[in-house]
Amino acid sequence: MPDRARPVPQVAILSDIHANRHALDAVREEMNRREVTRWWCVGDMVGYGAAPGAVVDCARTTAERCISGNHDLVVTGRLPIDTFASWARDAAEWTAGELDADQTAWLAGCQPVDREDTVTLVHASLRDPVWEYINGPVEAAASLGLASSPITVFGHTHVPAAWREVAHGEITPVPTFGTLTIGPGRWLLNPGSVGQPRDGDPRAAWAIYDPSVGQIEFIRTPYDIAGAQADIRAAGLPELLAARLEEGF
Ligand code: ZN
Repeated sequence: MPDRARPVPQVAILSDIHANRHALDAVREEMNRREVTRWWCVGDMVGYGAAPGAVVDCARTTAERCISGNHDLVVTGRLPIDTFASWARDAAEWTAGELDADQTAWLAGCQPVDREDTVTLVHASLRDPVWEYINGPVEAAASLGLASSPITVFGHTHVPAAWREVAHGEITPVPTFGTLTIGPGRWLLNPGSVGQPRDGDPRAAWAIYDPSVGQIEFIRTPYDIAGAQADIRAAGLPELLAARLEEGF
């Protein structure tokens, strides 16, 4: 029998975990069930949730690629905290006090964009890797115009999304239900948020990219929302951060 080329293994894409250990654990269990061992982190590991240390430790020891988001940058002092609304500021100050020196140093070393030949990871957008929300075609077209790889994965909005370039400067949204086959042209993909979804579905949102067949599967995973809320309340974090988890907003 001739040797067949071994397919490149699937990789899970997790964004905006936001210190939600319960959501991350549920997603990791689902990854195990599907025998997906690789994962990429698209930033905002911390902020809002009650388990920043556990999430940072998981990312730094198991993620194959990892970028930072605006919350990671604020918590590590790389961005001024007054850029945040009061409840996000309270959470960031609490988070900074929870991380030990090693966790803080590692988080501070992550960058908000990681360019690579096939898949670029960026937290917010290619025009502004830290702050810009890609919510519509104008922002999506601007980022696709700057894309140097066929696929750019982003997060930050906490809403799953996909856009593709149909002609130079012309883009179209693509539905994010189930499995998407990535065709020619440049693509922008957002897996949604693991730890604080904002599209009305409170289940953890993430994706699995299969490089061997050029497909991405958008996934929702139920998790122990009540457990995450109890931890947020026990930590004395703003009530809004607990309440919103069950609404998925
Ligand atoms: Zn976020």
